[in-house]
Amino acid sequence: MIKLNHLDYYRLPWNLTDNIISWLEPTAKCNLACFGCYRKNEVNSHKSFEQVIEEILLFKRMRNTDAMSIAGGDPLLHPDIVRIVQFIKAQKIKPIINTNGIALTKELLKELKKAGIYGFTFHVDSKQNRPGWKDSNEIELNELRYHYASMLASEKNISCSFNSTVYRDTMQYIPGMVEWANKNIDIVNVMVFILYRAVTNDFVDFYLGPEKIDMSNLVYNSEESKVVDIKTEELYEIFKKNDPNYDACSYLNGSENPESFKWFLAGRLGTKKKIFGYLGPKTMEIVQTFNHLLFGKYLSYTSPKISRKGKSLLLLSPFDKKLRQAVKNFFINPFNMFRRLYYQSIMVIQPVDLTDDGRQSMCDGCPDITLWNGKFVWSCRLEEQLNYGINLRTFPKEGIKLNKKSVVS
Ligand code: SF4
Repeated sequence: MIKLNHLDYYRLPWNLTDNIISWLEPTAKCNLACFGCYRKNEVNSHKSFEQVIEEILLFKRMRNTDAMSIAGGDPLLHPDIVRIVQFIKAQKIKPIINTNGIALTKELLKELKKAGIYGFTFHVDSKQNRPGWKDSNEIELNELRYHYASMLASEKNISCSFNSTVYRDTMQYIPGMVEWANKNIDIVNVMVFILYRAVTNDFVDFYLGPEKIDMSNLVYNSEESKVVDIKTEELYEIFKKNDPNYDACSYLNGSENPESFKWFLAGRLGTKKKIFGYLGPKTMEIVQTFNHLLFGKYLSYTSPKISRKGKSLLLLSPFDKKLRQAVKNFFINPFNMFRRLYYQSIMVIQPVDLTDDGRQSMCDGCPDITLWNGKFVWSCRLEEQLNYGINLRTFPKEGIKLNKKSVVS
């Protein structure tokens, strides 16, 4: 596996109190049971509108945030979803709905647009047991992705992102998904690949203080020894093979391992036919710094109106070697001057890892922080808070050398 140097990339400046996103969960109820889900589906789990408002205001008091991911469960099932979006928008925070899309109708979309929705992140992958798509692979699911992207496009200026959990047996489809995103760069703004993680008692023991805990009841426990050690670098190799110009510009490191890439963000510029180049670290640094200076927040999602003005980013090329290459590739054909150049993000998220001595390495500067009992907690480990009141500690089982096996939480 290739070894990347984290110092070659821009370390995104996000932290606990000043971040691009915060994670709101109005419900844990869902209409799907995805294999890789981190949250237990709870039928009667809608928080009251007042409770949700309280959480939004608490976030606002404790954390400067550009956007708010409204997640769950599936937030579209919450009866007050439109009012929630309206309230977030009134706080000058961008409301983003994280959904599987099933409950999204044209009428609801119109209402959400009126309420001020900024964007959607659709989670679509082949291990969701979706009715009607059960045996479809990731490439076949591009048809469903297209359906949601076109739905948003018809309402105009709603940001469109797709999340997909990546497993060893689905990695082969990544080039086809990235290519599809290129063909639809005019209506798809972000593609996120989340590397599958689950806990297992096979290689580590979990402790609540001195008490050993059996994790088999937790929703993100995997009975089978599934491979859960896919690394960002492996996806880097896939992207690179597909497009030799590919490179990311920025990252978040692990809380316990500075060299790991927990969020790995690439920004590319292209038309529906071709990608002309990628942003380098300097461009992302300029964008994040100036956005904060001018608007007081780090930049999360951009609106489709901005994303289609990719040519304006080329103005930063004097500061960025990678962008200069994009300028060269684009203007090699002078007629391109009259073509629209789109910006699109390709991102990898590598959730919780275990270090050799059993510590759990989280995303340093986690954007997906949520609230539990008035405290900030990692949304990917909320079930531990709910079941044990605290995040559990892990220690390697005797005789086990971690990261040599396919383990991890
Ligand atoms: S620490 Fe967990 S919740 Fe936070 S960004 Fe990483 S995977 Fe998401």
